[in-house]
Amino acid sequence: MIELERIRPEVLRGSFPMVCGDCRYTDVGTGWRGIVWQMCLDLERLPAGSVKITELGEKMGGLRVSMHTDGLSPEQEAAVRLAKVLAEERSRYLCEVCGEIGSIRRPPDGSAEWLRCRCHRHMPRDQTAWPIIRRERRHRIGGQYWVYDHLLDRMRVDELTAEKIYQTYRGILSVGAVDHVPVGWLAILDEYLRAAATSMEGADFRIQRIVEAHGGLDLESTSRPMSMTDPRFDSLERLGILLEARSLTTCRECGRRGHGYAIDGDIQTLCDDHAVGTLIRERDLGFVRATLDGFVRYDIETDSLVDVEHPAGDA
Ligand SMILES: [Zn+2]
Ligand SMILES: [Zn+2]
Repeated sequence: MIELERIRPEVLRGSFPMVCGDCRYTDVGTGWRGIVWQMCLDLERLPAGSVKITELGEKMGGLRVSMHTDGLSPEQEAAVRLAKVLAEERSRYLCEVCGEIGSIRRPPDGSAEWLRCRCHRHMPRDQTAWPIIRRERRHRIGGQYWVYDHLLDRMRVDELTAEKIYQTYRGILSVGAVDHVPVGWLAILDEYLRAAATSMEGADFRIQRIVEAHGGLDLESTSRPMSMTDPRFDSLERLGILLEARSLTTCRECGRRGHGYAIDGDIQTLCDDHAVGTLIRERDLGFVRATLDGFVRYDIETDSLVDVEHPAGDA
């Protein structure tokens, strides 16, 4: 068994007082020192006191950074998350003991062995035959999806296309169902489909088509056999309402925060940069929809649905 030398919290606090001054707990090896240091250097460029790392731990064999942020703009918040995710993704390719090229191996079923990122030298001999875990993770940051590009060693935007979405969720999509979805809404649609596919697993659920209507996304689906008392009905209904609410506040062209604009007798949801036509102010007043057992309001700050007593929308 190799004794793992760990990054000490006091060393971290001393090196990066602004970002790590509150860090009380670390449980990761010095092989990851380089990636942690690089992350802290990036985070130090943000306003003093706005980012505080509280813990460095390990999850599923990789680095896991816990932190608080305070008073950051959405762009700064995205920069912080990118720095954090970059460090965490890098750690999955570097030996935690020595910092050489490493990999995370999948233990055989029933093994009590933990997932660890190790180089060949620091991996117990019997584990070198285990399969390498290479799962590409997609991170939603600043309204876009990002993946870690290992060859270029950086985060890059994962461009979503209607075709990619169709291929991913063809199990619940009719042919051509997503062909007319504006590109700015693909990310929120992708999120909806992922949640709906999970929630409706095993059910005969299918989406015929998804179209733009009145500045938002409108969805035609069937699910048989399912009664309205099925709890899945409730969760699916809420997912659909959330998708509609998000589309009404997301630019159809670019995915940033959007507002309703009247143009040529039509309504389009657009950001400030893509705006054409006349801003419809009333539409920003609130979004409330009836559900089977009441009303829900969309809260844009938390990006979630809130139960409300009556359609006027006040909780
Ligand atoms: Zn090593
Ligand atoms: Zn836009």
